[in-house]
Amino acid sequence: MIQYTRETFNQVMIQNYAPADFIPVKGKGSRVWDQKGKEYIDFTSGIAVNSLGHCPDEIVEVLKTQSEKLWHSSNWFTSEQTLALATKLVEKTFADRVMFVNSGAEANEAALKLARRYAVDNFGYQKSKIIAFKQSFHGRTLFTVSVGGQAKYSDGFGPKPADIIHIPFNDLNAVKAVIDENTCAVIVEPIQGESGILPAHQDFLQGLREQCDQHNVLLIFDEVQTGIGRTGYLYAYMKYGVVPDILTSAKALGNGFPIGAMLTTNHIAKSFVPGVHGTTFGGNPLACAVAEKVIDIISSPQFLQKIHRTSEKFMQKLQEINQQCGLFKEIRGEGLLIGAELIEKYQGKASEFVKKAADNGLMILVAGPNVLRFAPALNISDDELEAGFVRLEQTLLVD
Ligand SMILES: *Cc1c(COP(=O)(O)O)cnc(C)c1O
Repeated sequence: MIQYTRETFNQVMIQNYAPADFIPVKGKGSRVWDQKGKEYIDFTSGIAVNSLGHCPDEIVEVLKTQSEKLWHSSNWFTSEQTLALATKLVEKTFADRVMFVNSGAEANEAALKLARRYAVDNFGYQKSKIIAFKQSFHGRTLFTVSVGGQAKYSDGFGPKPADIIHIPFNDLNAVKAVIDENTCAVIVEPIQGESGILPAHQDFLQGLREQCDQHNVLLIFDEVQTGIGRTGYLYAYMKYGVVPDILTSAKALGNGFPIGAMLTTNHIAKSFVPGVHGTTFGGNPLACAVAEKVIDIISSPQFLQKIHRTSEKFMQKLQEINQQCGLFKEIRGEGLLIGAELIEKYQGKASEFVKKAADNGLMILVAGPNVLRFAPALNISDDELEAGFVRLEQTLLVD
């Protein structure tokens, strides 16, 4: 048998990633094991994806059962599983209608195209301006990466889609200065994830809602990272009490089985008639069966309530470590989406701590060069959490 190693990655993979030195082979709950049998505590959930941990029994059961019934039939046919998931999402959110896709970028691509088409249908071609925020992240298709606020991701691919502007996050005056009759959409992450776990201010999101209403602009919430219980609410908009016109969801929706969704209202959904937008895999019965079970579990009030308690504990433990090591100038976030920003002395060094954590048997993430990101499974047990913090201490409390 061929032994694949990290070196194989360098030989056969396109080098657009630089994965860790170890190769995970098995996961259960918040524990992961690598090829050598070394155990890791997982504080990453595959970037806020495996929110119920690795291989949760109830989800495995659904996946197995559905895998013997029907995997895929294309969107020329619908499926009971697709309709069941859509019904639940509609029941539990502001939305009247749902479209399924396979990833966060695709969900945002659909949202942006819907906003543009809605503007054309209802106001005319001149209404095409999209307002987005600096440092935001919305995916890697050419449209979504151009809307995202980091030039280093979007430059160097030739001409970008036009009429997209980027202004500072949490700055309502900057919005007021540019929003007008020719604006079709504002897109925002309620908590900016990739750029450092930066929560939107309450009055900022409220102000965005008012500005959008005044100028007939659609408000899009990118909840790809903040959705599905990550903040202790099914969606973060529920915490803020600010309702968007379009919401995108993905990451944790399938607990690791790829699926994304775009949610909107009856009125806006009218602009997507047959043929206007589509996908081959989106809404397949296998993905939808899994996601329905995920929604069932995570949307229960008891489950969501527990996230707040786990969050408090997690934050407190981080603060305690920081009192000893003094590495962080700020610890912030909501629910179990937590960022710890390094002090000046360690600027640009976040990924070095990630490496060291792995040596100590702990998986953590960065969010930009200066922030350590923690996104443990929402159902992480006390035992797993304690074990993880022992290893985090070993990582942060040296010299
Ligand atoms: C991860 C992420 C995306 C992109 O999702 P993919 O599934 O990688 O395409 C978009 N928006 C936000 C806020 C994200 O965190």
